[in-house]
Amino acid sequence: MPSKTDAGDVDVAIVGAGPAGIYMLHRARTAGLSARVFDSAGGVGGTWYWNRYPGARCDVPSLEYSFGFDEDLQQEWSWPEKYSAQPDLLAYLNHVCDRFGLRDGIQLETRVDSVTYDEPQGRWQVGTDRGDNVSAQFVVMATGALSAANTPDIPGLDTFAGDVIHTARWPHEPVDFSGKRVAVIGTGSTGVQVIPEIAKQASELFVLQRTASYSLPSGNRPLDPAEEAVIKARYADFRAANRLMPAAIGSLYQLRSTSVLDATPEERQLAFEETWEMGGFAFVRTFPDLTLSHEANKIAADFARAKIRSIVHDPATAELLSPKIVIGCKRMCIDSGYFETYNLEHVHLVDVSTTPIQEVTSAGLRVGDRTYEVDAIVFATGFDAMTGALLRLDIRGRGGQPLGDAWAAGPGTYLGLSIPGFPNLFTIAGPGSPSVLTNVIVAIEQHVDWITDCIEDMRDHGYSTIEAMPEARDAWVVHVNEVAADSLHNDPGCNSWYLGSNIEGKPRVFMPLLGFPAYVDRCEEVVVRGYEGFVLSPASSP
Ligand code: FAD
Ligand code: NAP
Repeated sequence: MPSKTDAGDVDVAIVGAGPAGIYMLHRARTAGLSARVFDSAGGVGGTWYWNRYPGARCDVPSLEYSFGFDEDLQQEWSWPEKYSAQPDLLAYLNHVCDRFGLRDGIQLETRVDSVTYDEPQGRWQVGTDRGDNVSAQFVVMATGALSAANTPDIPGLDTFAGDVIHTARWPHEPVDFSGKRVAVIGTGSTGVQVIPEIAKQASELFVLQRTASYSLPSGNRPLDPAEEAVIKARYADFRAANRLMPAAIGSLYQLRSTSVLDATPEERQLAFEETWEMGGFAFVRTFPDLTLSHEANKIAADFARAKIRSIVHDPATAELLSPKIVIGCKRMCIDSGYFETYNLEHVHLVDVSTTPIQEVTSAGLRVGDRTYEVDAIVFATGFDAMTGALLRLDIRGRGGQPLGDAWAAGPGTYLGLSIPGFPNLFTIAGPGSPSVLTNVIVAIEQHVDWITDCIEDMRDHGYSTIEAMPEARDAWVVHVNEVAADSLHNDPGCNSWYLGSNIEGKPRVFMPLLGFPAYVDRCEEVVVRGYEGFVLSPASSP
């Protein structure tokens, strides 16, 4: 365990050493700013440090889900698979830290538990569980939109005699389920990845499903060197083309531009088969209107449900696995052999949608009048997304106002980057940003570049403080909601982590912003208009 370090004053304190914190440190240093990163983890990598569960891998192709800020970096790194697995993603992020000499700026095993604005000084005090108290002019919260693990409060959990593991806190040592009876709770993106892997070992596997997910085959395979060479020959152009796509991914898909409603049943079938075969998110883009209208959505959903029925032998299980929600309500899952797993005799699907899990006993899980006796329970139950990591630490702005009070009715930011009353504090991939509706690495690079350029501008023009105006925040919140209102993400029957509805008591607010390219333009426009919506104050007035 490292001892308490006296980090001293810095220009920028960064909370989180995932991709966002790593790139933020690099950019801050190249801008001549002193900076220090804190992370409670024992290593760098954020998501890819914590989520070590078997089957964990990215759902955006690795040639896209990687940094584009340095041409040499992107040329020299080779990915083994189209969608790389967690160990390869973690190795990559460690490589980035070594390659750019970042390690000495990162303090690990250090949880930041308070971030307090010292109004007279115009600086932030960052307190950690190691007793550090660091003074910083700027704070960047790179705490992750999907880092605050959510374990449902099921009565009796502490009485369970076996092992309890959350996928986002997977042990470092291998977990052997051989000969064991295992329960997995949750069938979101994590569940569909971990379930086939646990099924390979467990003697009996119970999957407790509350909501059936749409899941598309990844089509994962070793990365073809020829495909890699083609992209690397024009990597910068490839990244630029992706940045112009609605979710900053998939510029390579050559998809139709006409409505699914204008296609004949045969044409639809052919088109859907083609994108299903391509793997990954291509299916959702088969026609441009699949996530725009209910009628179009239903046609794609019927195809996806027919696929499930064609894979899963038992009709009752296939029916239970067939999602009833609209495509786009929740994030689409990408899997490698998920539905096929239910054809294994030792894998049982348990419906907990109408009869929830009542309690955990020492022997297992009680659902209705049946107890499922197991040796281990795996929680694939997701995250308190977007706001969880921020609200789990004590952030206090002007007048000592806690962030929790400022966000009591729901999170409010300007551009997803800044909060009135919290000057010089920036959020990366925070609520109001398009982050989680994109290839997140692309959004992170854009956020970090904007923040660093802003700090440089402030220095060049003699400003010490930047703060979002309440009116700008209010208008931004309205904008985020207006854009979402017309989308199927916000369908009345939808309960997703985008809306905070996976966490009891969390205000139901659509948190991320739809529309990455328009967002980038808006951020640039704000700068051109002299940081419109912000108050900039000179060095003498914090
Ligand atoms: P993170 O990687 O989450 O890092 C945040 C860090 O902050 C963590 O290490 C955490 O320990 C630290 N932290 C938080 N609070 C504190 C505190 N108080 N004190 C100290 N440290 C703190 N996105 C995609 O675009 N494509 C994908 O394929 C994809 N796959 C994913 C798979 C999984 C299993 C999960 C959970 C998410 C996935 N995501 C994916 C989203 C993913 O979170 C982002 O792509 C990316 O990792 C976000 O980087 P980040 O640095 O913002 O946050
Ligand atoms: P999630 O999408 O929120 O899924 C959590 C699952 O747990 C859901 O099926 C949920 O059911 C269930 N659940 C929660 N509480 C429950 C309870 N009390 N009883 C029964 N079931 C319960 O979380 P996730 O799967 O970890 O994924 C979160 C996000 O991380 C993804 O959307 C994605 O952005 C990212 N991710 C990506 C990948 C990838 O493929 N690269 C992998 C993992 C995660 P309900 O739906 O009914 O709430």
